[in-house]
Amino acid sequence: MKQLVLASGNAGKLAEFSELFGALQLELVAQSQWRVPPCDEPAPSFVENALLKARHAAQHTGRPALADDSGLCVAALGGEPGVRSARYAGDAADDAANNAQLLDRLHGVSQRQAHFVCVLVALRRVDDPEPLIAHGWLHGTLADAARGSAGFGYDPLFVPGQAATTLAELDAAAKNAISHRGRAAAQMARLLQAFWGVETR
Ligand code: IMP
Repeated sequence: MKQLVLASGNAGKLAEFSELFGALQLELVAQSQWRVPPCDEPAPSFVENALLKARHAAQHTGRPALADDSGLCVAALGGEPGVRSARYAGDAADDAANNAQLLDRLHGVSQRQAHFVCVLVALRRVDDPEPLIAHGWLHGTLADAARGSAGFGYDPLFVPGQAATTLAELDAAAKNAISHRGRAAAQMARLLQAFWGVETR
């Protein structure tokens, strides 16, 4: 069973990615087991931030590592909040405040297209010259008011594709089946099998 350190301190993410990679002979391990210090995410792109996090985890653990970076990009706002999605309304990283800020910026704006993006990076070691990189996107529109209580982040405002409900009105399985994270994980699963020889269960 191959072990991969997940470069995140978030227990929810460990559970979600363990489920998404459930078909593989792969064990995701929390980086907290090695007391990895927090990693800055200063870069202007998702892929660079994911690479920084994966390299940081590989450096501090001496093991293969997987990192993700994700966010919401709004067409009418030139791609904002983008890499600043978690802290759009300030360093408190408060979901309700972020949603309020987004609604405020979009007041009177009729173009409501937006997408989520997730980038996953896997490294065999800190100086791996061939990182595996996977992308997933979820396109949709933004509602005028928050609806639903499931999920996190901008889920209460995001209406995927032609759906009538927001992501926060879907259960976790329904969201995972279409989400940017689910799609990036499916692509990464194929890369791990093809390039690292990871087997299915
Ligand atoms: P990170 O990838 O953990 O840095 O998260 C980036 C931020 O993007 C989150 O804090 C959310 O605000 C937003 N975000 C990413 N994925 C989702 C999602 O699936 N639903 C809602 N918000 C999301």
